[in-house]
Amino acid sequence: MKLLLLPGDGIGPEIAAATETVLRAVEARYGLGLSLTRRDIGFPALEAEGTTIPDAVIVEARGADGVVLGPVSHNAYPPVSAGGRNPSGVLRRELELYANIRPALSRPAVPRPVSAEVDLVVVRENLEGFYADRNMHEGGGEFAPEPGVGLAFRKVTARASRRIAEAAFALAETRPRRRVTAIHKANVMRLTDGIFLAEVRAVAAAHPGIDYNELLVDAAAAHLVRHPGRFDVIVTTNMFGDILSDLASELSGGLGLAASLNLGPSYAVAQAQHGSAPDIAGQDRANPVSLIGSAAMLLRHLGAGAAAASVEAAIDAALSSPETRTCDLGGALGTRAFADHLATLIVES
Ligand code: ATP
Ligand code: MG
Repeated sequence: MKLLLLPGDGIGPEIAAATETVLRAVEARYGLGLSLTRRDIGFPALEAEGTTIPDAVIVEARGADGVVLGPVSHNAYPPVSAGGRNPSGVLRRELELYANIRPALSRPAVPRPVSAEVDLVVVRENLEGFYADRNMHEGGGEFAPEPGVGLAFRKVTARASRRIAEAAFALAETRPRRRVTAIHKANVMRLTDGIFLAEVRAVAAAHPGIDYNELLVDAAAAHLVRHPGRFDVIVTTNMFGDILSDLASELSGGLGLAASLNLGPSYAVAQAQHGSAPDIAGQDRANPVSLIGSAAMLLRHLGAGAAAASVEAAIDAALSSPETRTCDLGGALGTRAFADHLATLIVES
């Protein structure tokens, strides 16, 4: 199994090193024939090669079975013309990663802001909406027709809506509660979210065994806080998915736990849901569960289900006690020590 590891910047190198520690333990325990190549993106690549995402990295990503992508501080990059492309956006587009699968799962022993349990997955459309054409040119999707006036466009196509809906229903078929909620704002954005809903409804009609319902995004935010247990699979457009998945992951215990997998027709990229957290970078304080859990999703996607399950079991075991958690969850372990602990649990499993 050939994996490409792109550490990124901010806390990226720390949580990527932790993920590498865990993957090496998985290899020792399960012998997947893992080959792991590490390549710089983000600030280190900008310094060395004048671009935050060298073309060679995209070529290597296409040649790998899967990619583990660390967070990147793209808000702090120079303009595109000076090499500052958003590596995450470029990979999503180049590899046609149209679905971003973002689970939020509460753990019994980890404190969370509401008492209700959370076990849901946000299936976020990943290439369109307000993000269409990002990085294609300066301004990416936003225009100033005159000084003091800004315009942003939001692209929604039937094709992309259809395939994100199909991904969501296929996932719901594998989950016990078998429920899909489509989240939209079609009362205001009648054309774009109208297209989105029409496609989701067509896919729902082909899945009579799935309990299907729809919610306006504002109501959905309120329901998520009050009744998170009512949600199983959420399917939504790009920006709503971005916002609601942060909300869901905080409800489940924190951004440091939030894993995700980007999927396209031919490629898969594991990526934490959060950003580069520059406020805690370089301090051995980041929680690597987000990226390690993402790598476990990738392993399962690539057919290594037993290895993925052992990583998830190790995460569950470590999170069950404050002594073996990182400081964002009231624990005492640093990023490195936490990863070493997981590695021991996996090798001994
Ligand atoms: P970016 O602009 O790259 O998104 P950000 O400042 O918005 O960076 P995020 O990574 O999105 O930062 O996260 C918001 C806050 O949540 C961070 O400032 C950090 O304190 C916390 N956080 C995020 N990820 C982690 C993590 N893995 N471990 C611990 N704390 C985290
Ligand atoms: Mg952020």
